[in-house]
Amino acid sequence: MNTLRYAIIGDIHSNLTALETVKADIHDMEIDEILCVGDLVGYAARPRECLEFVRENAAAVVAGNHDYGVSGALSLEYFNADAMNAVQWTREVLSEEEISYLDSLPLITEYNDILLVHSTPRNPEAFAYIQTLYDATIAFNQMENNLALIGHSHAPIVFQDSDPPDYFLVNEFELPEGQKVLINVGSVGQPRDLDPRSSYAIYDSEERRVTLRRLEYNIEQAARRITEAGLPPNNAQRLYWGQ
Ligand code: ZN
Repeated sequence: MNTLRYAIIGDIHSNLTALETVKADIHDMEIDEILCVGDLVGYAARPRECLEFVRENAAAVVAGNHDYGVSGALSLEYFNADAMNAVQWTREVLSEEEISYLDSLPLITEYNDILLVHSTPRNPEAFAYIQTLYDATIAFNQMENNLALIGHSHAPIVFQDSDPPDYFLVNEFELPEGQKVLINVGSVGQPRDLDPRSSYAIYDSEERRVTLRRLEYNIEQAARRITEAGLPPNNAQRLYWGQ
């Protein structure tokens, strides 16, 4: 089997400034394939550019709740006021063709034995969060793959289906043989683990190692673009706080 180095990106949320920093890092890291765990758009001011980058460069992409919110596949009642404002703004900025691309994305997919889903392997359409060992155990029971990569909480974490199940907040993780692992790769465009640096993951299938990359980017520029677009000021402020 050929071995590959993957970059896994997600929760970009129209933050092109952060995405450009991640793109440059992906280039330096000699990546073979890019995978995307969803939420290309929402919150920030450059949906078109972020969508185009993912569409042109990712080998596999799943839909996040904001992607489906923009397309209309998910009801707006699931969004708070600031998120809903950006979803409606994004609908006006994107073309019909771009919106239908978001609508066409699957909720869950598999790529070379890697499971990709924005939220949870079980009932992904509910967009629930995996934040506890209990949540992770339910997910493991639903998974046939040994590796699942997810997003949605914007906080990187590794869950391992050991006995008992365990979790790790680490930047490097070696995949154990014969055990299921679920990894949240964090957020490119709106980190929420109180670390404002952009987050994505590299998976080296030969070394069986996942490395979390955290990158400083020009938050001032991303924030300015949000306020200049007339989007909610909170969507800009939270970038500085990492939440
Ligand atoms: Zn998100």
